[in-house]
Amino acid sequence: MFEERSKSRPRVVVVGTGGTIASSATVSTDFHNYDVSDSIEQILAAVPEAAELADLCGVQAVNISSHRIDNSILLSLARRVSEALDDPGTDGVVITHGTDTLEETAYFLHLVLRTTKPVVVVGAMRPARSLSSDGALNFFNAVATATTQSSRGKGVLVVANGHIYGARDVMKRDTSSIDAIQGSKFGILGEVREHAAQFFHSPVQRHTASSEFEINRLQELPQVDILFDHQAAGTHLCRASVEAGSKAIVVAGMGNGSLSPGLRKGAALARDAGVIFIRASRSGQGIVAPLHSDAELGIITAGSLPPQKARILAMLGIAHAKDIEQLQRAFDSY
Ligand code: ASP
Repeated sequence: MFEERSKSRPRVVVVGTGGTIASSATVSTDFHNYDVSDSIEQILAAVPEAAELADLCGVQAVNISSHRIDNSILLSLARRVSEALDDPGTDGVVITHGTDTLEETAYFLHLVLRTTKPVVVVGAMRPARSLSSDGALNFFNAVATATTQSSRGKGVLVVANGHIYGARDVMKRDTSSIDAIQGSKFGILGEVREHAAQFFHSPVQRHTASSEFEINRLQELPQVDILFDHQAAGTHLCRASVEAGSKAIVVAGMGNGSLSPGLRKGAALARDAGVIFIRASRSGQGIVAPLHSDAELGIITAGSLPPQKARILAMLGIAHAKDIEQLQRAFDSY
């Protein structure tokens, strides 16, 4: 991957996928109407400061907005990152990504990459070349994090605004503000200071090198749908999901994952069709605790994973042929 070995400098593979960090608008003050325009080579050329930290090698996986990423892109991205990490010459990987679904990709990689090398996912809220664009500094900080020794073994990391988050506990929490990427109440892992990562916490759930999930065993991912519960919800969306071949339904339930009567009927319908039913919460924070009534409907609880990450874990668990008890154990440990 790298042409010539210069032992003194770390080597980082930079995988481009698109997103706002690779986008430009026609008006420098327009933060919403823009298109993906820049290749990974252009991103590297725009931040020469990053090349002072490491030898960088750009790889273009895709170049799209992250709301267009589907399961097959997720799989092929993970394979490319895994190949780059398998190269003994690679010390770390940075992935540039749209912020809309960054947390899903980061958590997927966190679960399937068998590595202790630093893997850092980074995006931007403002297009390149817009007023006060955040992309260049976020990218520089991501490379700084990937080249810091203490970033090893912490799973997939997300860097935004000088903060370092673990892939499991990071989420986009604002539609547009510059600090949209934030940690859950379980906290940030560290900060980038003086061109290096400084950590204060480590993730304790299973991930990367201690994960049982493996990208090489995955040909495809099963369909898992997310339904949003609300007052007066019907059962019809559960029925549609089952009929469309879904292998599991994640519900963004109310509060502690409470189900409306319509979704409770949907849980029974799913159980009868052999479709796994998972209670998560639409509240955005906190742990969904099991209820006595879960067992009778064969319901799994998502713990502190938000619905979009519960879907990622459910896809992997089902692809690795986990039964309901094993799946619940996975939700308790990843
Ligand atoms: N639309 C963008 C995306 O690709 C948003 C972003 O990157 O901030 O997710």
